[in-house]
Amino acid sequence: MSVTVRWAPSPTGNIHLGNARPALLNWFFARRHGGKYVLRMDDTDHARSTREFADGIEADLAWLGVQPDLLVRQSERTALYDAAKEKLIAAGRLYPCYETEEELDRKRARARLLGKPPIYDRAALSLTDEDRARLEAEGRKPHWRFKLDGKPVQFNDLIKGQQTVNTASMSDPVLIRADGSYLYTLPSVVDDIDLGITHVIRGEDHVSNTGTQIEIFEALGGVVPTFAHHNLLTDAQGQGFSKRMGSQPMADFRAEGYEPLAIAIVATLTGTSLAVEPYENLDAIAARLDFSMISHGAARFDDAELDTLNARILHAMPYAEAASRLSSLGLEGEAMWNLLRENLRKFGDIVEWSKLLTGPVETVVAPEDQEFLTLAKTLLPQEPWDESTWSQWTDALKATTGRKGKALFLPLRMALTGRHDGPELKSLLVLLGRKACLDRLP
Ligand code: GLU
Repeated sequence: MSVTVRWAPSPTGNIHLGNARPALLNWFFARRHGGKYVLRMDDTDHARSTREFADGIEADLAWLGVQPDLLVRQSERTALYDAAKEKLIAAGRLYPCYETEEELDRKRARARLLGKPPIYDRAALSLTDEDRARLEAEGRKPHWRFKLDGKPVQFNDLIKGQQTVNTASMSDPVLIRADGSYLYTLPSVVDDIDLGITHVIRGEDHVSNTGTQIEIFEALGGVVPTFAHHNLLTDAQGQGFSKRMGSQPMADFRAEGYEPLAIAIVATLTGTSLAVEPYENLDAIAARLDFSMISHGAARFDDAELDTLNARILHAMPYAEAASRLSSLGLEGEAMWNLLRENLRKFGDIVEWSKLLTGPVETVVAPEDQEFLTLAKTLLPQEPWDESTWSQWTDALKATTGRKGKALFLPLRMALTGRHDGPELKSLLVLLGRKACLDRLP
């Protein structure tokens, strides 16, 4: 089966974590099936779309590790939509309407008063040529509606299973505004046909659009793709995103130093039966995540889970992967990385931690430990040192002073590092070497 998917953001703002979900679910699906990934900018809304937002989306997607095979912009494809418009008019499926917003509001209010659903009454369908000429002479410009079949549209969703959308309970959707610009619905279908999209993977807020769009696919004689509608990411209360993190622009996560892989994992595995835990890379997730694992309930994003995951990814990061990033921070050394990585919450924390090795370190000595530490200095073994040096040293100190546990180790840690937590001392000692230890001990 040859697969082509698309991710179709509207460049009317910055993307956030919730947008990363369809961006990546499409990528995983393409990778799994050796398929093609199209990045489609849904920029038909000239008033709100900007090139700047589109460029930002491209950069965010690249940061996440997705490389589209093709980029298209709807603003450059109007000729295709115009052709589809003509085809639908000729087929009697697209008709001009002249009601103003106020007139439509009044119609809806009236329907409500009568206890009817506020569905468009299709009055424009009974206009004669003369009526239309008169309205246009008054200066009215038509908007265009798609004439729905009004039959239940059925499709088998790869995530949600068998779905039925009853277009009889919907107003004929406006496809073209009075200013001639296209709303999302038609260009999306035209592009899906033109680009040979086989699978449409998007948020479940689009299920009812799918009913309309399947009718449009059929009216245009296109092949209807397979649909997969995923649950949307919400905050812990199920309320959309938390102010603090979820709705932040993706670029903020980057600026705050989160690993793109951590963001990708949280954005996609939340609300699935797979655990939110480290994966080696996007392909490793693609190999595991099947649509059957995506829950039908909410996908609740948890900030704390992201922080924990980010740290776990760093704690397991091999030096080969970290090396070039370290060198851009002016750091190097596999032993240093392996020793310090387990303390990181963000990659950039390594700069502070590396000062434990390079110094200067403000050592802290409690008065009651002064004598103990002076003795420690005299018992410090001669070099060469290895990982057993630490226990040689502390065994000797234990035997001489009778101290053990915290009373034995904490003063040494505080004197050598200036803090009561941090890397394993037996490895730190070897990296520091005898001279630096002597300098730090009082
Ligand atoms: N631009 C639409 C959106 O961002 C695309 C939906 C779709 O994938 O068809 O919601």
